Amino acid sequence: MLHYQDSPKDGHSCSGCSSFRPPTAPDAETGTCKVLEGPISPHGWCMAYSPR
Ligand code: SF4
Repeated sequence: MLHYQDSPKDGHSCSGCSSFRPPTAPDAETGTCKVLEGPISPHGWCMAYSPR
């Protein structure tokens, strides 16, 4: 619904989003998000993106 994609959009990605929660394990490649369920790539993006 928020058009999540697993690649950045216009230079923006989850790693710079205020809703992103980084991976907890050192070897994990995905984190989580406050507004979307499921594993979230730091390099992803969705319509709810908001800069930190
Ligand atoms: S709101 Fe969207 S852009 Fe921000 S962390 Fe979640 S999935 Fe990524």
